Amino acid sequence: MAALLTLEEAQERVLRRTRLLPPESVPIGEAGGRVAAEDVRARVDLPSFASSAMDGFAVRASDLPATLRIAGESAAGRPYEGRLETGDAVSISTGAVVPEGADAVVPIERVVCSDNKIEISYPTEPGAYVRPRGGDLAAGDVAVPAGSRLTPARLAAAAACGIAELACRRRPRVAVLATGSELVLPGAALRPGQIYETNTLMLRSALVGTGAEIVSGPPVADDEAALRDALERGLAADVLVTSGGVSVGEHDLVRAVERDLGVEELFWRVSIKPGKPVSFGVRGETLVFGLPGNPVSALVGAELFVKPALRALQGLAEVLPRYETGRLAKALRQTEERDEFVRAQSRVDGDAVVLDPVDGQESHMIVRSAAADALVHIPRGNGELAAGSTVEWLRLDVV
Ligand code: AMP
Ligand code: MG
Repeated sequence: MAALLTLEEAQERVLRRTRLLPPESVPIGEAGGRVAAEDVRARVDLPSFASSAMDGFAVRASDLPATLRIAGESAAGRPYEGRLETGDAVSISTGAVVPEGADAVVPIERVVCSDNKIEISYPTEPGAYVRPRGGDLAAGDVAVPAGSRLTPARLAAAAACGIAELACRRRPRVAVLATGSELVLPGAALRPGQIYETNTLMLRSALVGTGAEIVSGPPVADDEAALRDALERGLAADVLVTSGGVSVGEHDLVRAVERDLGVEELFWRVSIKPGKPVSFGVRGETLVFGLPGNPVSALVGAELFVKPALRALQGLAEVLPRYETGRLAKALRQTEERDEFVRAQSRVDGDAVVLDPVDGQESHMIVRSAAADALVHIPRGNGELAAGSTVEWLRLDVV
């Protein structure tokens, strides 16, 4: 048998067929979590005027030390209108305009006030406690680069620049479809041989955080006509993600029906554990992922293949999962010919992260996996990784 495709080769095949979704204009209030399609540039200098970093008094540094006359006030949003003359101070609040003529601010804590005068008994430097105009960013400069996710801070940065609407990549439309004649929805009574369906809501929840807009329906039976119908509908999305029916059993019909529907298969089976029977293909611009039905396999497949594609569709700079390093809490045997993703709990121990594999690593054991927040990558091989070995791991979504 030919060697299985490696994880890296498979991920590369996915990304090679993933094109960028078009941009659309989005009001900034709705842009949280979206990906900027163009550089967001400042419309104004930030700050747009020299402003005070403290509550205190605006002064001329060359006057100090001195007793100064309080000539007026500059409050946030209400600038002092005159020019600060030598021998004068202007009471100033944080964020207020530093008046013309002033070049430093003395914090209120360091001033002795009496009547209409203040006494400052030490010198100061020009520029002290003054935020210079353009000190954060100059007008025209890039505040949020294209291809970045609009995090809370980036949204605020765009708002600070005066941006009301910005170009974002369209959200990928993802159809999620569970397949299997044994599946029933939680809440119904189980008849012999039936199990509760877990994958639709798991995949929805895993993918929505990557920016997807998800459509899903009830699970579909292992029946050619029913599958054809449901898959054809799913192929209208940007991405179709199925679970189940891609293994070698007689009732594993998903790939054959997809082929009939015009899906070009680009791989089937990858040297990973769990999740080996995963398939990937395209029809037109639609990406088609066939995840295995075991819930843990489906979850791992979503992390390794589907989420990177969703990030790439939105133009994010970093699309592949980011590995972190940690230490194994206990020894683990490697698996021959397959890179393994062991579900583990992470904890901080001194300056290291320690990864403790959960008991019950079989791919149907979703409840055992539910205790994990990490996937530890155990490279394929014939050896054993000792307790304390340095390993790479992926963080699983916990929110
Ligand atoms: P399959 O990939 O269709 O061969 O399914 C592998 C295993 O996963 C079988 O034990 C199925 O019953 C189970 N399974 C498949 N789909 C689901 C699902 N949506 N929810 C829970 N278990 C599933
Ligand atoms: Mg099945």
